[in-house]
Amino acid sequence: MSAVRVRFAPSPTGFFHIGSARTALFNWLYARHTGGTFVLRIEDTDKERNSEQFVDLIYNSLKWLGLNWDEGPQVGGAFGPYRQSERAHIYKEYLEKLKAAGRTYEKDGATWFKLLGERHEVFDDHRKKTVTKVKVAPTVIDDLIRGRVERLEDEDFVIVRSDGNPVFHFVNVVDDIAMQITHVIRGEDHLSNTSKHVELFKAFGAPVPQFAHIPLILKSPEMGQGKMSKRDKGALVEEYQQKFFLPEALVNYISLLGWNPGDDREKMPVAEIVRLFELSGVNQSNAKFDGKKLANMNMTYLLEQPAERFLALAREYFATQPNNAAVTANEAYFREIMLLAQPKIKSIDDLGAYTGYFFTEDFAIDPKVKEKVMAKGDPKARLAELIAALPAMDFSSDAAIEAALKALAESKGLGFGDYQAVARLAVSGTNAGPSITSLFRVLGRERVQARFARFLAA
Ligand code: GLU
Repeated sequence: MSAVRVRFAPSPTGFFHIGSARTALFNWLYARHTGGTFVLRIEDTDKERNSEQFVDLIYNSLKWLGLNWDEGPQVGGAFGPYRQSERAHIYKEYLEKLKAAGRTYEKDGATWFKLLGERHEVFDDHRKKTVTKVKVAPTVIDDLIRGRVERLEDEDFVIVRSDGNPVFHFVNVVDDIAMQITHVIRGEDHLSNTSKHVELFKAFGAPVPQFAHIPLILKSPEMGQGKMSKRDKGALVEEYQQKFFLPEALVNYISLLGWNPGDDREKMPVAEIVRLFELSGVNQSNAKFDGKKLANMNMTYLLEQPAERFLALAREYFATQPNNAAVTANEAYFREIMLLAQPKIKSIDDLGAYTGYFFTEDFAIDPKVKEKVMAKGDPKARLAELIAALPAMDFSSDAAIEAALKALAESKGLGFGDYQAVARLAVSGTNAGPSITSLFRVLGRERVQARFARFLAA
């Protein structure tokens, strides 16, 4: 068998969505699994709907996801140019080939592709007009995912419009021939076009590539029902990028939209997905997008990031937050706080809320929590005792702080818990967060002391 050549062929007519990312990913995975070539081709023939902004978005999204292309814009290759808008001369040349083979004719200013077979006129009730049907056998598509699909392609179709622009079917097939594509892996929405494509391949005398039509992605329950569209919230790759998701978590999650490794494993490093990926492992049934599952996957990945990577992500995140004191905070202080937060947050963009009180003395006190805490025991007395004990307390480690707090409680005939809630409220304004000992240690004696005093005075 010849070396695998696959392509991702997006049209730059809109935002880069999960569906596009999945098509790109499956092509990339197949190329990497087989040692083949992954081609990026920009299908930008629709001048009205294309935009350079969307072309850049395709490049950036693929790079962010780590889906590097071997041939295509920016990297070049032997079959370029890789943007359809730059390939007009190639389409002309191929059109001449079809003309020479007697497979085209002109009608109403357009160029039509001529099917081979006996012709007869019939009245089409649906379209309410007379059409010319061609007596042909159904086109057979041996799809690697759908299996054998038959479709009756029995009408000639336009390949070059009256304005001189070649249509999608034509340029798509010409490029797949010219770029020696062996496998066409694309969304199931293109299955209905494939019989036209197959007839064109045959008319050119070119080998028909293997087709693999991947199932639709349905909406997550909270998005509503039906096919996921780029208008759905949570459907764009950019949204996850802006929320500082880890691209490898997104790649892992997207790989499972219609594929599984043959067992119920879900979290897998990309190298493992590459190793296991087979087109025969792609399901026929529709995949269901599940935003919660994706968020969970991301959380699992976040949890295991090495400190340096997590800190780099945190810094990137804070740099996008207006006037956040975390940006100018002491390096070591920032590090301690972020590493406390890492196992507790669900996503990077929770960091602002989770760590806010570390970076300002002007943090809010949650009134509900305050009401609850102040209603139990004698929190003011406890706070006063803490203030008195603080100067002599050993702040060197969580264990030392815990021992000191326990000793204090014991000396008053009370429990650790009697001090904890009010201490936490006074230093953080809330009842959730890192352990009280970590709070003390990271904030440091001076800050804790000042916050206690201020709270008591208020
Ligand atoms: N430009 C087409 C699209 O964006 C690609 C079709 C194909 O992959 O063959 O849907």
